[in-house]
Amino acid sequence: MRQPTDVLVVGGGPAGSAVAILLARAGLKVCLLEKSHFPREKPCGEYVSPGCLSILDRLGLLSALEALDPQPIRGMRIVAPGGTVLTGVYPGNGTVSHGYSLPRYRFDALLFDAARKAGVECHEGWRVFDLIREGGGVAGVVADSEGRSRSFTASVTIGADGRNSVVARRLKLFAWHRTHRKVALLRRFQMPVDVGDVGEVYLGTTGYSILNPQGRGVLNIGVVVDQQDLPLHQAWERVLCDLFVAYPRVRGMLEGAHPLNAIRVLGPLACRATRVAGDGFLLVGDAAGYYDPMTGEGVYQALRGAELAAKTVAEALSNGGPTAGGLGRYAVCYRREFASKDRVCQLLQQIVCRPRLCDLLVRRLNDRPIQVEELLGVVGDLLPAERLLRPRFWTSLFWKRPLP
Ligand SMILES: Cc1cc2nc3c(=O)[nH]c(=O)nc-3n(C[C@H](O)[C@H](O)[C@H](O)COP(=O)(O)OP(=O)(O)OC[C@H]3O[C@@H](n4cnc5c(N)ncnc54)[C@H](O)[C@@H]3O)c2cc1C
Repeated sequence: MRQPTDVLVVGGGPAGSAVAILLARAGLKVCLLEKSHFPREKPCGEYVSPGCLSILDRLGLLSALEALDPQPIRGMRIVAPGGTVLTGVYPGNGTVSHGYSLPRYRFDALLFDAARKAGVECHEGWRVFDLIREGGGVAGVVADSEGRSRSFTASVTIGADGRNSVVARRLKLFAWHRTHRKVALLRRFQMPVDVGDVGEVYLGTTGYSILNPQGRGVLNIGVVVDQQDLPLHQAWERVLCDLFVAYPRVRGMLEGAHPLNAIRVLGPLACRATRVAGDGFLLVGDAAGYYDPMTGEGVYQALRGAELAAKTVAEALSNGGPTAGGLGRYAVCYRREFASKDRVCQLLQQIVCRPRLCDLLVRRLNDRPIQVEELLGVVGDLLPAERLLRPRFWTSLFWKRPLP
C-alpha cells in the first residue's frame, strides 16, 4: 500500500543525504532520520576522491563545496616498506584532475543542509532501533529521541546508516568479513610546516599509515593495523605512539606537531550486507558494505550508490510499488558498478601484506608512467577499475624493462 511518506532514509551521512536530495528533486516525499546533530565529527581520512567531484556537480553542490575552501589533493605518494617512493598525479579527465580534503563535519553538514533545502523532512537526534514489517516486507522504522519512541512508515526504507547498519542487522543481512580484520586509529594534527597537496600512504610490514593534508598545515593521519596486532589495555595515546615506530618518517614529521582532536578508533572495518535490496528496502553506502580505507573510495561509493538507489526507487514507485523485484534491480546495478573496484581493493590488500612484493612493484612503477596513471585513475575513481584487472597491467610490472 502506498504510504503518505514515499521514502524513509535512515542516516544523514553522504549516502543518506545524497539519496534523499535526489528523491526529493524527483518529486517524492522523503523523510530523513539522523541520530546525531550536525555538524558532527565522522572518523575518516577525510579525502574526497576526484571521481566524487562530477557526482557533486550533478547534485549541484560542487561550488558550495569549493566555497568551503577545501584542500585540493592532486595525487598520491606511496612509500614502500623498504623506503622506495612513488609519486603520481591524478590523470586529467575533462577539467577535474584533483580530489579534495576537508573535515567531514563540514562536508556532511553541507550535504545534510542541501537535503533540507531540497524539501526533505529532516529529523536530527532520532536514532532508529527497529523496523516495522508488513506482509513480509519493510514498511518503516521505529526511532527514539530523548526517551520518546515514534514509528515512521513509508513505501520504501533506505538504510544509509553506515557500517554496523541497524537496518541491515535487523534484516539479518549484516556480516563481518571473515578474514580481513583491520582497526584504524585517526587523528588530526597541526604541523609546524606546510604539508603539500598530495595524499601519502606509508606501507609497513603489518599495516599502513595514511596522511591527508587539509590546508593551513593541518594533516589528517590514520594508522591501520590487523586487529590482532592492536595492543589492548593501554591508553590510545600510547598505542598510537607505539604504532608510529613502524613509520619512522611519519614519526619524524610529527616532531613539533600538536594534535587537534581526540584519537578515534574504529574496527573491525570490513563488513558487508549479504543482500542490498528486497521487499520495501534498499541499503546504500557503508550500510551495503565496506572493505578497507587504503584506497579511500568510501565517499565515492556512498554518492554513486545514492544515484543508483534513487533511480531504482523513483522507477519502482512510478511502476506499481516497491516490490522485491522492482527494488532488486538496484542489486544488479550495484554489483555491476562496484564489483571490479572491490576486486581491485582485495588484490591491492594481497600485495600490501607482502612487503617484498610491495617494494618490487613500487620500484617497477617508478619506470612506468602509464601504469602509474592507470593506478591513480582507478584509485581516484576516474577510470574503470577493470583497467587494473587486465593481466597486461601486472605482467608489464613483472617484466624487468617497461613493455613498449
Ligand atoms: C579509517 C577510515 C578512513 C576512511 N577514509 C576515507 C577517505 O579518506 N575517503 C573516503 O572516501 N572514504 C573514507 N572512508 C570511508 C568513508 O568514511 C565511508 O565510506 C563513508 O562515510 C560512507 O558514507 P555513508 O553515508 O554510507 O555512512 P556514514 O558516513 O557512516 O553515515 C552514516 C550516518 O548514519 C547515522 N546513523 C547511524 N546509525 C543510525 C541510526 N540507528 N539511526 C539514525 N542514524 C544513524 C550516522 O550518525 C551517520 O551520520 C574511511 C573509512 C574508515 C573506516
